[in-house]
Amino acid sequence: MYDFLIVGAGISGAVFAHEVHKAGKKCLVIDSRGTIGGNLYCENIRGIPVHCYGLHILQTDDRRVWEFLNSFGKFVPCRERVSEKQYEGVPEKGYTQIIRKLLKDCDVYLNTDYNSLRKEKPDIAKKVFYTGRLDEYFGEEYGRLVYELHSYETELRFQKHYQKHMKEKVRGKNAQIIEHKYLTGIYDKKHTPFTVITKESWGKNLKDGVPGMLENTEKNRMLFRKYRMLAGKEKRAIFGGRMFHEGSYGIDEAVRDAMILAEKYA
Ligand SMILES: Cc1cc2nc3c(=O)[nH]c(=O)nc-3n(C[C@H](O)[C@H](O)[C@H](O)COP(=O)(O)OP(=O)(O)OC[C@H]3O[C@@H](n4cnc5c(N)ncnc54)[C@H](O)[C@@H]3O)c2cc1C
Repeated sequence: MYDFLIVGAGISGAVFAHEVHKAGKKCLVIDSRGTIGGNLYCENIRGIPVHCYGLHILQTDDRRVWEFLNSFGKFVPCRERVSEKQYEGVPEKGYTQIIRKLLKDCDVYLNTDYNSLRKEKPDIAKKVFYTGRLDEYFGEEYGRLVYELHSYETELRFQKHYQKHMKEKVRGKNAQIIEHKYLTGIYDKKHTPFTVITKESWGKNLKDGVPGMLENTEKNRMLFRKYRMLAGKEKRAIFGGRMFHEGSYGIDEAVRDAMILAEKYA
């Protein structure tokens, strides 16, 4: 039996797994997607790190978080941004290699959904660390939460540049094009004759996609708070990650909170 079943191989699950493993706990990490990293998943396409779920820039005043992440992979400045935070950057080789290092001593099952696993193997672990949607954990007991959905389409283009800036809005649509080469400028200097772009579209009526922000209506916020109350009473699981928060929730907060929870429960 595992000490912890960690639902979600995003940054929250990976940091939690790493920290409790360090304290001697045996962990199984699962993710319903076929990749690790959650929304931070990056692919290396012809040497260019591609943020497959949209640009993710770490901006923080928290030195502990900055040093922790930098100990797993070097962060470099982002070219087109000036942050008010003390530390800012993106991993030179993308986030996936950092997540891989965080998870290296844990068992990881991908394409594995918690809702199926808990039916098949309810006693697989003593405790669950859950970073998925709250409504799904509770079988939508009070109804389904509404999230803005994001979809992403990545394309390799055989041209030096596709557009003039890192991010450009598509006129008249809830969409933008990201050109990854611009992110740090490192790959731009290599004068590669190709580039990689991602079209990011968002809205609550997309057919499917990755949940982003909770829709900001009174009804939806009240529903979310009801699920938070249920989560507070749940003995079997510890809840964390961005889906446990109502507003925006950055990478730095995810790392910091996962560390705090790991310290508390390990
Ligand atoms: C559009 C957008 C842009 C952002 N940009 C930035 C930025 O520039 N800088 C910044 O600091 N933050 C940014 N963020 C926030 C950042 O994405 C989060 O802070 C971070 O990814 C949170 O990681 P997480 O592990 O909590 O969640 P996630 O990355 O969402 O990981 C959760 C994982 O759990 C898995 N999962 C869910 N349910 C189940 C289930 N039932 N069974 C198995 N697995 C399951 C999911 O597949 C997912 O992989 C952005 C967020 C969005 C939506």
